[in-house]
Order: sequence, then C-alpha cells, then structure tokens
Amino acid sequence: MEQPVNTTKATHEAPLSRLRAEIQENVRACMQCGTCTGSCMNSFAMDLTPRQVWRLAQLGDIESIFKSKTFYLCSACYYCTLRCPRGLQLTETMGALKRLAAAQGLTKFKQSANFYKTFMDTVQRYGRLREMEFINRYFISMKSPIFPFSYIPLGLKLMKKGKVSIEAPKLFGEGRFDRLFQKVQELEKRT
Ligand code: SF4
Ligand code: SF4
Repeated sequence: MEQPVNTTKATHEAPLSRLRAEIQENVRACMQCGTCTGSCMNSFAMDLTPRQVWRLAQLGDIESIFKSKTFYLCSACYYCTLRCPRGLQLTETMGALKRLAAAQGLTKFKQSANFYKTFMDTVQRYGRLREMEFINRYFISMKSPIFPFSYIPLGLKLMKKGKVSIEAPKLFGEGRFDRLFQKVQELEKRT
C-alpha cells in the first residue's frame, strides 16, 4: 500500500534547510522578465504567477509561496525552463517546492501531495500511467471512505469518452520497473 504524505512535522531540519537553499539558489539569477509566466499554460489558474514565486524564493519567503497552490498547479511541461533567458532550472524548482511542502507535512496540500506521489509512483512502476491503478492508490492514500464518491461523475465522463482503460488495478506485487529503481537507489547510496 502507498504511504500517504507525512502529516507530522518533519524533524530533519538540515535536509529541509538544504532544500530551501537549493530553491533560493536555483532562481537567484532571475531578472523578473516574466517570460516564464507568459509561457505557462497553467498560469491562468495560479494565484501567484511563476515570476512572483521566484521573487519570493529569492527573498527566502517560502511561507508566502506556501499560502498559494501555484507550485502544485505546475504540470512540469518544461516550457518555462526552455524559454527562460537566464537558463534557470524552473521546472525542477517547482518540483523542489512540492517535495519541501510534503516533507514539512503541510496538511493543506495533503490532497495535492498524495495525488502527485501516487501519480509518480505509478509511472515509476510501469514507465507509464495505469489509470485504474493510479486512481485506486490515490483513493487508498486519502484514507476516506467517502472521498472516492466525489470522483464518480468525472470517472463516468472519462469512461464514456474512452479516456480510461478498464483493467484490474494491481495493488500488490512488483511493477515492471521496481527492481530497476531499487538498483539505482542502492547505487546512489554508495556514491
Ligand atoms: S523567464 Fe527566467 S529570468 Fe525571466 S522571470 Fe522567469 S525565471 Fe526570471
Ligand atoms: S513547467 Fe510548470 S511553471 Fe513552467 S510553464 Fe510548465 S506548468 Fe508552467
């Protein structure tokens, strides 16, 4: 079973402060030109634009960033990274903000964090998204018997349009790529 996002306050201050420093350093050279915001197809839904997120990160004000959900609305399309005239690692920085929010156990982001984690875990296990497995793992991670019911209208709509493949979810046992990722993690620990 998937582990849901840690909702207890993280005690590993050193790694968290390193992650904060990494976020700040990634955007230190931002000159606030706004190309990233103009390129982001999700910015219409964001309460802080990507450009504003970088400015707050430069100032070390991560708490203000966490008052918005902008970083969780990033779909990692890499368009801003490709177009940034300073060549900054913007998509990675959005990912680092997601990791930091999860590590700090911010309950406000529990739903988004669990969605992101179960999505990525499914892709990691199979090299692609298996919709039925992903959605079942997501429901389990939320630990609420009524939560899945809110997805019924969307599920029916997607099924009607043939957007969801009907296959039995495989919740136990290894995925095709699990051993590969385990091996990589072992090698990383040695370096
Ligand atoms: S495109 Fe690059 S330099 Fe311009 S605002 Fe965005 S991060 Fe800053
Ligand atoms: S990577 Fe994220 S922030 Fe950048 S353009 Fe795509 S959705 Fe927007």
